[in-house]
Amino acid sequence: MTTENYNPLLVAQKQIAHAAEKLQLDLRILEMLKEPERCLEVSIPVKMDDGMVQVFKGWRCQHNTAIGPAKGGLRYHPDVTQEEVKALAMWMTFKCNVVGLPYGGGKGGIRVDPRKLSVGELERMTRAYINLIAPVIGPTKDIPAPDVYTTPQIMGWIMDEFSKINGCNVPGIVTGKPIIVGGSLGRDKATARGCTIVIREAAKKLGIPLQGAAVAVQGYGNAGSFLATLLTEMGCKIVAVSDSKGGIYHSDGLNAQAVIDHKAHTGSVVGFPGAKVITNQELLDCDVDILVPAAFENQIDADVAAQVKAKIVAEAANGPTTPEGDAVLYDKGVLVIPDILASAGGVTVSYFEWVQNLANFYWSLEEVNNRLEHIMVNSFAAVYAMHQDKGVSMRDAAYMVAINRIAEAIKIRGWI
Ligand code: GLU
Repeated sequence: MTTENYNPLLVAQKQIAHAAEKLQLDLRILEMLKEPERCLEVSIPVKMDDGMVQVFKGWRCQHNTAIGPAKGGLRYHPDVTQEEVKALAMWMTFKCNVVGLPYGGGKGGIRVDPRKLSVGELERMTRAYINLIAPVIGPTKDIPAPDVYTTPQIMGWIMDEFSKINGCNVPGIVTGKPIIVGGSLGRDKATARGCTIVIREAAKKLGIPLQGAAVAVQGYGNAGSFLATLLTEMGCKIVAVSDSKGGIYHSDGLNAQAVIDHKAHTGSVVGFPGAKVITNQELLDCDVDILVPAAFENQIDADVAAQVKAKIVAEAANGPTTPEGDAVLYDKGVLVIPDILASAGGVTVSYFEWVQNLANFYWSLEEVNNRLEHIMVNSFAAVYAMHQDKGVSMRDAAYMVAINRIAEAIKIRGWI
């Protein structure tokens, strides 16, 4: 793999260009979509518990707002870069539009290892970051949400800080909040639930019964762990899971909930009683029907893809497959449910949360889940139809569905 492929922005740009070519998209629109509209960089000074001050780098990036305000998560991770935040914002534009939400894409990030901060330091850093980006965010401008290593509690602080700046409660500033301050029922499991719905639809198309289907899940955070439990309820057998410390395997299937409990006590899935320890590579190579990368970018390159045995790859993470890996999977006939579709359940329920905040009228869990089901089933059908009609990969098809919407808005607004 070339170094270029490790740059997620170049990967995102390649993906758009690929789909744009198939659509014969107006090149002026492609140029517009290659870079974000705005990317704000901030330096966040935080008073640490030991009396010192540490300054963290952060960004908030808005990719394209032709359809509506920017929407997307906020990531706390020691490897966050500006290029990564730009790529993630770009992916959000297409994610929102493949499922028909009235949003453009946004993303934020702070280069920090939140696991090394005390709760007080984490809160002070979050509040300082919100003060610095307050001029460019708002319920009609840009609405943050959770992402890697950011939690409902962090969203609660964001809601509070922004409300204080504005002198009134502004619950619609952020989604993924705790229920008591305007969060939506079902948001916590929404990314996982959305992904299981499209896995079910894909399995139907390929004639793979979910009952007894073997699944490997890379990443056991919010998305991966809930996915494993939901897929278990649907009859699947979770044979392998992993987290940043390593992977575990059991040919008879792992008890997904027991693994969640084990991780909660020990900090990792590794060491789960009775399971064999495996490497990340072994997890991706596993002999399974369904592989779910639910961790980070650039996990499946051409070499890894050549070893993949799954018939369905459902990308619950953002950007887990490189363009070269994608080509190999496509040639092998693996059905890839691309990230912008497979992981869209989270932002879909974030949209529901924002709508409930703006209306000040709250829905039941059943209403949330039914609406999510409806959107995911219809979006999968639209992407699958494009994939079949145009003879393109599922990724190209998903981008084509999304780009068509954005291009129409750009034209109608007179941007070109
Ligand atoms: N961070 C999530 C994503 O990448 C959720 C974004 C949101 O809810 O706005 O899709």
